[in-house]
Amino acid sequence: HTKQSGRNGYTFFTPAMQASAARRLRLLQDLRRALARDELILHYQPKFPGSGQPVIGAEALLRWQHPELGLLGPDTFIPIAERSGLILPIGDWVLDRACAQLRAWHDAGHTSWSMAVNLSPLQFTSPSLVDTVRDALQRHALDPGHLTLEVTETTAMKNVEASLQLLNTLTAMGVKIAIDDFGTGYSSLLYLKRMPASELKIDRAFVRDLENNAEDAAIVSSIVALGRSLQLQVVAEGVETEAQRDFLDQLGCDLLQGYHLGKPMDPEAFLRQAT
Ligand code: C2E
Ligand code: MG
Ligand code: MG
Ligand code: MG
Repeated sequence: HTKQSGRNGYTFFTPAMQASAARRLRLLQDLRRALARDELILHYQPKFPGSGQPVIGAEALLRWQHPELGLLGPDTFIPIAERSGLILPIGDWVLDRACAQLRAWHDAGHTSWSMAVNLSPLQFTSPSLVDTVRDALQRHALDPGHLTLEVTETTAMKNVEASLQLLNTLTAMGVKIAIDDFGTGYSSLLYLKRMPASELKIDRAFVRDLENNAEDAAIVSSIVALGRSLQLQVVAEGVETEAQRDFLDQLGCDLLQGYHLGKPMDPEAFLRQAT
């Protein structure tokens, strides 16, 4: 029990909390209409196999072009979408649009590129996920091996047996699994060993001070070694400097993502930069 929560678990709001509750309610109301009004968009951030090598694909990242508030990042509205269940139709839309984009890139000759899509905890427990994924792949005539689903370490490790079953089903379909924000949750190595994942994405909290912080450097280098022994590709997120890139290259980190290599971009900018 916190100070704010009274008898019966009711919460008494302070004025500041009321303002943010009002904001959340407004965002929720607007979000209900955002899909129909075509306000959601995807940006694509490139993934590179080490520096100097060509792009191998992209991660789709959701944005909301709000009519009054401007371009909103996912951290401002995904929690609201998650709590209200709106993430399910939104997540279906993301999957469909990301697959449509990948189809367009393949048709344009970039047939080796893959696409990564983030899944929220609610999507991950949704009974329709497998069908939704299969339908999206079929609709856009994509090889399942070109789709990676990113699920955070925390989500994957919650309800481990159910997670394993779902991940095994998706893997059997040929879809790849990435464990996102790795290092911030509470992974059991025993379960990690059983996870049919193909990628570990090192959270950018460990990349930020890589060159100056010996602990971070040690953690990153252990994750790279762990990935190698479990035969998982290791991806570093949030590579912002040349020094970080060189350091990760030297460690033998398989894939790099970050502003230094490429920011999330609209599809036109992505093609321009990647080709
Ligand atoms: P994530 O999947 O871990 O994505 C990485 C985040 O780091 C993205 O933030 C990306 O723009 C940002 N980033 C990439 N490179 C750098 C860098 O060099 N420096 C810094 N400071 N940041 C960098 P974004 O786009 O705001 O997304 C935040 C989170 O929202 C994502 O974290 C993901 O968990 C979630 N998200 C994004 N799109 C979707 C979606 O379509 N569905 C769901 N369920 N979640 C999504
Ligand atoms: Mg991700
Ligand atoms: Mg991440
Ligand atoms: Mg994250």
